[in-house]
Amino acid sequence: ETKKVAAPTKIVQLKAGQELRFENGFADSETVTLKLKAGHAEVFGSELATDPSYTFSGRKVAVYTWHGCSLELGGTPTVDYVADETPMQSYLNVHLALEQLRVAAEEKGEDGPKVMLVGPADVGKTSLAKILLNYAVKQGRKPIFVDIDPNEGSISLPGTLAATAIGRPIDMEEELSASSATTGTSPLTYYYGYPSPLDKPKLFGALVGRLASIVDRKMSESDVKTSGFIMNTPSQFVDVAGYDILTHAIDSFHVNAILVIGHERLYSELTRRYPPADSGISIVKLAKSGGVVTRDKIYRRRLQMHKIKEYFYGTPKGELSPYSSLVPFSDVAVRRVGEGTLAPSSALPLGSAPLLQETRLVKVDPGDILHHSILAVSHAALPDPGSAAAQLTPEEESNVVLATNVAGFVYVSDVDEDKKKMTVLAPNPGRLPRRYMLMAAMKWMET
Ligand code: ATP
Ligand code: MN
Repeated sequence: ETKKVAAPTKIVQLKAGQELRFENGFADSETVTLKLKAGHAEVFGSELATDPSYTFSGRKVAVYTWHGCSLELGGTPTVDYVADETPMQSYLNVHLALEQLRVAAEEKGEDGPKVMLVGPADVGKTSLAKILLNYAVKQGRKPIFVDIDPNEGSISLPGTLAATAIGRPIDMEEELSASSATTGTSPLTYYYGYPSPLDKPKLFGALVGRLASIVDRKMSESDVKTSGFIMNTPSQFVDVAGYDILTHAIDSFHVNAILVIGHERLYSELTRRYPPADSGISIVKLAKSGGVVTRDKIYRRRLQMHKIKEYFYGTPKGELSPYSSLVPFSDVAVRRVGEGTLAPSSALPLGSAPLLQETRLVKVDPGDILHHSILAVSHAALPDPGSAAAQLTPEEESNVVLATNVAGFVYVSDVDEDKKKMTVLAPNPGRLPRRYMLMAAMKWMET
C-alpha cells in the first residue's frame, strides 16, 4: 500500500500592491495549488474566488492584490517569493484610458480601441494582453483577442494566427487553451505553420492581411464593436528584420493604440513613423514587470508540445478523448505551406524567388513524410474530380486555400506505406471531411 503524503501548505499574507510570484514544473508531483482565504486577489486580471482550490502545472504565475489578501499555497513550487514593486498601476491606467475610448466610441457609434502590444521576448506581452482583456470583460465589454504570435498560438495551436471574442474572464488554470470554455466558440484560425514570422515573412504578411479583414468585418457586429480588440504580437516584430511586417500589421488592422513594452528604440521609431498628431495612433511606452520570467528554448518547446497535447486530450479540468482512425492515402489531399519549389532562378529578379514561392502550396504525396505531423484541416473543400474547380491552377488553388481559415487539426500517429494507409488522431469522431489538409514544420510525438 502506498501512502499519499499530504503536500505541504503555507499561508502567504499580501499587502495592498504586492504580488506573490511562483513557478513550477510539468510533472504531477510538481503541481501547485492556490486558495484565497481572505481579501481579493487576481492572476493576470482573473479574480480568484474565495473558496475553490486552483491548480497549476508547468507555470510561472503572479498573484496580485490591489487591497491585500491572505493566500494558501500548496505543493512545492520551484520558486516562490513576494514582490513589492510591480507595473500593475500603469497597466490599470492603460485599461482606464482604453475604457474612456470605448465610452467615446459608444457615443459616436465608432469602433472601440484597436490595441497592439509589441516588445521583445519575455517582457510580459501575453500577460498584459490577458490583464487588459480580463479588465475589459469585468467592465461588461467583449473585446476581441487577436494573437498573431505563431510561436505561442495561445488561443489555438502553435503555428497559427487567430482571433476570438472574449466574453468571460480567462480561466486562470486552463488559460486560453483551445479546448477551454473561456470563449465557448472555436477561434477564427489561419495556419501559418512556423514558429517565427521571419521564417516565411511573405506568407505571414498575407495571413495577417487576411485575418485583419475578417476581424474588421467582425468589429461591425454590435456586441464587440465598441469593445475593440487587443492584439498580441511576436517578439521578432522588434527586430530590424521584422520592422516591415510590424508596420504592415499596424496598417492592415488599422491599429490606433500601440503599447510598447520594454523597448526604447522601437518606441522612438514608431513615434517618428506614426506621429500621434497626424496618424491618430497613440503610442505608449510601458515598463516590463520584474517578475516576468525568461523562458529558454527547451521550456518553450515543452510549452508548444503541451499545447498540442491539450488540443487532443484536454486539460485536467476538462479531459477529452481523441478518436483514432485509419485513412487510405487516396482519401487525403495534403499541401505543404511555405515551401514552394523554386522557379529557375534566372527567370526571376534576384532575390524575389523564395519570397514569391512562400504563398504557393505544394502537393505532398502521403507517406512516411507525414509521420508525427500535425495537419491543419482547412475549411476549403476539395473540388469534385471533373468539376470546374478541379481545374484550378496551383496558383489559384493556393490563393483559395490560404485565404480560408482552418476548422481544426489532426495528428498523423502512424503511416503504413505498404497498405497505403495512415492512422490519424482527431478531437472529434467521424470520417475526415473531404478538405484540404495543410502541413508545415509542426511535428509532435505523443508521450
Ligand atoms: P514571448 O515574447 O515569449 O511571447 P511575453 O512577452 O509574451 O513572452 P509573457 O508570456 O507574458 O511574456 O511572460 C513570460 C513568462 O513570465 C510567462 O510564463 C508568464 O506567466 C510569466 N510572468 C509574467 N509576468 C509575471 C509576473 N509578474 N510574475 C511572475 N511571472 C510572470
Ligand atoms: Mn507572448
